[in-house]
Order: sequence, then C-alpha cells, then structure tokens
Amino acid sequence: MTQQGILIVLSGPSGTGKGTICQELLRSYPNLHYSISATTRPPRAGEINGVNYWFTSKDEFQRMIHDDDLLEWAEVYGNYYGTPCRYVKELLDSGRDVVLEIDTQGAMQVRGKFPQGVFVYIVPPSLEELAKRIHKRGTDTEESIKRRLSCATLEMNQVYSYNYVVVNDEVSNAVHKIEAIITAEKCNVLRNGHLIQQICKINPKE
Ligand code: ADP
Ligand code: 5GP
Repeated sequence: MTQQGILIVLSGPSGTGKGTICQELLRSYPNLHYSISATTRPPRAGEINGVNYWFTSKDEFQRMIHDDDLLEWAEVYGNYYGTPCRYVKELLDSGRDVVLEIDTQGAMQVRGKFPQGVFVYIVPPSLEELAKRIHKRGTDTEESIKRRLSCATLEMNQVYSYNYVVVNDEVSNAVHKIEAIITAEKCNVLRNGHLIQQICKINPKE
C-alpha cells in the first residue's frame, strides 16, 4: 500500500518570504508538489496563469465555492484565494507530498478537515525587515503595502495554532529547517503503521 503523502501548510505575513522559501524547497525536494491556488487578485508583473496562481473572475470563484471544488478559501486583502482540492487529493493519495502556501484563515480550515497536515508558520526576523522586504519586492502599491504591514502583527498571533515556527533570516537556513521538519514528520509513528506491520510480517516470531 502506498503511504499517503504529507500535506505541508506554510503561512506567514505577506513579504516574509514564503514564496521564496517554497521555490527553494521545490528545487531541493523532488517529491514535493506545489498546490496552485485560485485567486481573484489581478496578476502582478511577471506572474503567469497556471504557474503562480489560477487567475479567475469573482463569478468563477463563486462557482468553485458552490460546487465544493475548494479545500479551503478566504478573502485576503480584499481578494479571494482558494485551494482547488482535486489536485491536492490525487497527489497525496499517490504518495506525493504537497505544499500549500496560504493564509491563516485557510490554514485553520485545512486543519479542521486534515489534522494530519503539518502546519508551519514563517516569521521575519523583525517587523523592520518585513517592511524592507515588501518594499524590495516592488510589486505592491503603497496602499497595499500599508495594509499588509498593519495586518502583520495581528496575523502573527495566529502562530500558536501551528505545529512549527521558522524564522526566515537566511533563505537557506529556513529551507533546511523545513526539510528537517518534513524528515521528522516522515518518521512519525502515526504515519508508519503500515511499515511496522510489514516488518512484523517479515519477522513473525518477534
Ligand atoms: P511572501 O511570499 O511571504 O509574500 P516573498 O517570497 O515574495 O514573500 O518575499 C518578499 C521579498 O523578500 C522578495 O523580494 C524576496 O526576494 C525577499 N526575501 C525573501 N526571503 C528573504 C531573506 N531571507 N532575506 C532577504 N530577503 C528575502
Ligand atoms: P499574495 O497576493 O501576496 O500572492 O498573497 C496574499 C496572501 O494570500 C498570502 O498570505 C498568501 O499566503 C495567501 N494565499 C495565497 N493563496 C491562498 C489560498 O489558496 N488560500 C488562502 N486561504 N490564502 C492564500
């Protein structure tokens, strides 16, 4: 029997480096797949439909909610974001690990439906550094930056609902920590019942 893959949920304030970390993780960890979210937010310069997001209209998003096509969804900074569930389910059932990069409202919905997921909260080393990163990214308007920063402290109080917290000081440090978390979770007794049974079958006298 194929062991179900691990669902890793990454959250953290906008600009903390989730996307950057995800890209590095996906490069170094071939069994990991990225769940492309649907959003009603317009694409930023350089973003590609079907790569960064599925860019959808509000009507299409409402249809997905109505048809129960989303594992979770939320309104974030005035736009809708959601995780199409079919792809995630297919990947997990075939033993592949999946990473979701979603906000805290969505993460809590996933935790309700999928408590065996691994919930990781990424924090910046400081709020000053967070502000610098959002400005450096250069993709948001001043108004959007203000909105994202004013939400950051409130958002960070949600960290206690997660299993792990990772400080994104250096991208490589943060990626190594998340790899270590995945490795530890793969060894979790609760995920290895089938393995123990197999070993016991091979050595029936023990
Ligand atoms: P998020 O996905 O959390 O909104 P991004 O991955 O878009 O954040 O990162 C925001 C900005 O911060 C980008 O310009 C990125 O290059 C930069 N960044 C990410 N991680 C670090 C880091 N550890 N040190 C310095 N800059 C970083
Ligand atoms: P951005 O507009 O910067 O790409 O994303 C804004 C916020 O939306 C981030 O906190 C990001 O994690 C969150 N987000 C992205 N995709 C999803 C999703 O599918 N569901 C939820 N709930 N949040 C998402």
